[in-house]
Amino acid sequence: MSEVANKVVIITGASSGLGEETAKMLAHKGAKLVLGARREDRLKALTDTINSEGGEAIYKTVDVTDKAQVQALSDAALERFGRIDVLVNNAGLMPLAPLDELKIDEWDQMIDVNIKGVMYGVAAVLPTMRKQKTGHVINLSSVAGHVVFPGAAVYCATKFAVKAISEGIRQESNGEIRATNISPGAVSTELTDHISHKDSKEMAEGLYQDAISSDSIARAITFAIEQPGDVDVNEMIIRPTKQE
Ligand code: NDP
Repeated sequence: MSEVANKVVIITGASSGLGEETAKMLAHKGAKLVLGARREDRLKALTDTINSEGGEAIYKTVDVTDKAQVQALSDAALERFGRIDVLVNNAGLMPLAPLDELKIDEWDQMIDVNIKGVMYGVAAVLPTMRKQKTGHVINLSSVAGHVVFPGAAVYCATKFAVKAISEGIRQESNGEIRATNISPGAVSTELTDHISHKDSKEMAEGLYQDAISSDSIARAITFAIEQPGDVDVNEMIIRPTKQE
C-alpha cells in the first residue's frame, strides 16, 4: 500500500502551480489535505474538485507572512484530522530585477514570503511533530538555491536560505522528522507573472520556453513522502533536460 494514503498533508501556496498539482496528485493517492493560500476562490474550487472525486481536503485562507494565520492553518489540520504528517512549505514568489532597480518592496516581499513564511510553517508544525515523534517537512527551494544569476540576487538569497533551513531541520531531527529540499528548475506556472521589471521578465520568458510541467515536481514531492519512514530523501534537483 502506498505510504501516502491517510497521511495528513498541509500544503501552502496550493491555489496554483506546483502546490495545486501536488494537492491533486496526493489526493489521488489517499492523502488527507489541508490547503492554504490567499485566493479563496481557487482554494475552494480545488477542494471541491478533490472531495467530489472521492478525496479528502479542507482549505483555509492564509497569508504566510502572518505567523498567526500560519498557526491557524496548522490548528485547522489538527482539529479536523488529529495529526500532521507532512508540511509542504511551497508558497513563494519571484519578482526578479537587478539590484540597481532598488525594488526594495519586492525584496521585502520575497524575504517575508520565501523565508519567514517557511519558518512560520516550521514553527506551526514542529511541536506537533515532536509530540508525535514523527513528521516530514518539505521545502520548495530552487535551482536558484544552488547557483546565483544576474537579476536574481534576492530571490537566490531566499532560496539559499530555504536550503539552509531544510538542512538545519535534518540536522536537528533527532531521528524523528524527515526534511526534504526540492529544487526545481523552470516549471510552467504563474511564478513569472509577477515580474515587474521588463528586461527580467523577457529573460525569464526565454528561460521558461523549455519549462517542464508542474506534475514533474508533484511526482518528486510524492516520491519523498511515499518512502518508508526510515528513508529520508534530503535533496532533489529537477531541471528541464534542456535547461543549462
Ligand atoms: P505560482 O505563482 O503558481 O504559485 C505560488 C503560490 O504561492 C500561489 O498558490 C500563491 O497563492 C502562493 N503565495 C504567494 N504569496 C503568498 C502569501 N503571502 N501567502 C500565502 N500564499 C502565497 O508559482 P509556483 O507554483 O511555481 O511556485 C511554488 C514554489 O515553487 C515557490 O516557492 C517557487 O519559488 C518555487 N519554485 C518554482 C519554480 C518554477 O519555475 N515555477 C522553480 C523553482 C522553485 P495566493 O496568491 O493565492 O496566495
